[in-house]
Amino acid sequence: MAETQDGRRRHRKPHAIFIPYPLQGHVIPSVHLAVKLASHGFTVTFVNTHYIHHKISTATGSGADVFSKLRESSPGGESLDIRYATVSDGLPLGFDRSLNHDQFMASLLHVFSAHVEELVAGIVASGGEDEEVSCLIADTFFVWPAKVAKKFGLVCVSFWTEPALVYTLYHHVHLLRQNGHFGCQDRREDAIEYIPGVASIEPKDTTSYLQEANETSVCHQIIFTAFQDARGADFVVANTVQELEAETISALQAQMSYYAIGPIFPPAGFTNKSAVRTSLWSESDCSHWLDTRKPGSVLYVSFGSYAHVEKPDLVEIARGLALSGVSFVWVLRDDIVSSDDPNPLPVGFREEVSDRSMIVGWCSQKEVLAHRAIGGFLTHCGWNSILEAAWCGVPLLCFPLYTDQFTNRKLVVDDWKVGINLIDCKAARKEDVARNIGRLMGGDLGDELRKRVKEVKKTLASALESNGSSARNFGQFVEELKNKIQ
Ligand code: UDP
Repeated sequence: MAETQDGRRRHRKPHAIFIPYPLQGHVIPSVHLAVKLASHGFTVTFVNTHYIHHKISTATGSGADVFSKLRESSPGGESLDIRYATVSDGLPLGFDRSLNHDQFMASLLHVFSAHVEELVAGIVASGGEDEEVSCLIADTFFVWPAKVAKKFGLVCVSFWTEPALVYTLYHHVHLLRQNGHFGCQDRREDAIEYIPGVASIEPKDTTSYLQEANETSVCHQIIFTAFQDARGADFVVANTVQELEAETISALQAQMSYYAIGPIFPPAGFTNKSAVRTSLWSESDCSHWLDTRKPGSVLYVSFGSYAHVEKPDLVEIARGLALSGVSFVWVLRDDIVSSDDPNPLPVGFREEVSDRSMIVGWCSQKEVLAHRAIGGFLTHCGWNSILEAAWCGVPLLCFPLYTDQFTNRKLVVDDWKVGINLIDCKAARKEDVARNIGRLMGGDLGDELRKRVKEVKKTLASALESNGSSARNFGQFVEELKNKIQ
């Protein structure tokens, strides 16, 4: 707390630097959390990488910063103090980060922190007496937040964008090692039953990195170093909901200041796009086409922003969609198989399904999921996608590909029972795909899933109400953070 000239104590306005992981699924909730903090009295300097800024600018046709419109039309007419900066991720803008994923990750591991330190030093040095930077909020997957925060005397907030179940697996990786479930030649295949707050989890439901034998990859190094660094964070805020993962979250809360504050959606409304720009690709409008379809009749298909599908699987999924007879919107990124293979669909597929499908490169997923024509979601089980589908009461057909998606699938299918698996074995077969699409979209099982997902939807909505768990946790987090800063 600063003192005025006459000796009275004055509260400083808290100023946070917020650095999201430079991937679509991390940038989206980070932007919305930044706005939420600004509307709770924080000055926020939000930092995108040059590359993310360039992608958003190209996608939306505006080079202005992502909050420019919001500043002009702040809720309640008060102006939110959100500033914007960009930083290099260490690679040239034209570098294909999707095709050269390991090099991208290596740059984030080895090079990015130097750029961040330089940027933070500059922002800290430029802060006046009333807007002195007091806090660093950064994605848990970075390897440096607590270290950098300590160097500049800042409070460190680690932002976790995946379920608490995934957090706790990484946080307790030493237990997985000790018990022979990770990091040894003959790994145990029985259930893991010793992680605090996790009754039981099969090794196949842990994240892809924890299932891999080679633990020396760049991504492994990132995860191990990042979770070591996160132990030094003052707070962890997570985009999940207390009631959805009650035991896991309680167990984490016994060990650290862990706040479940999700689902983190745009404060101005779930489908409100006008305030902030977050898309890395330009969005095709699906609403007119969806308007022509019967309620609950369309399957939405998307594998998110990042994961790749093996070509044989993609071909079987396409054939299964054709066989199912169901109408669908399919988000097919150019690099869905690889940016080397931008046309992976079977020959003739587009023509075969043209009267009942819309295939786009990217869309406003929230708008699509909220449309009454959507009756199911074939998903890779990205965490944002799961929260968004639940918010819209849409049941899930699960095809996890990578990283946390296997663990997220367990929550959806085994624990909450709001979805089913797309395939029964390792490789996709068109008959299974078509059959499971049918089970999801119609019949008794479909009705049962829809009923249960509406319950989860209620849980999410209640958590955000003024006395709900996420609202309370967020309020408590803000209060404790402000106390620590003063
Ligand atoms: N998304 C979108 N349009 C699309 C596909 C995805 O806006 O066509 C958004 C989606 O709403 C979600 C994010 O991109 O917020 C993807 O995050 P998720 O955690 O589901 O998957 P990831 O891309 O991180 O694998």
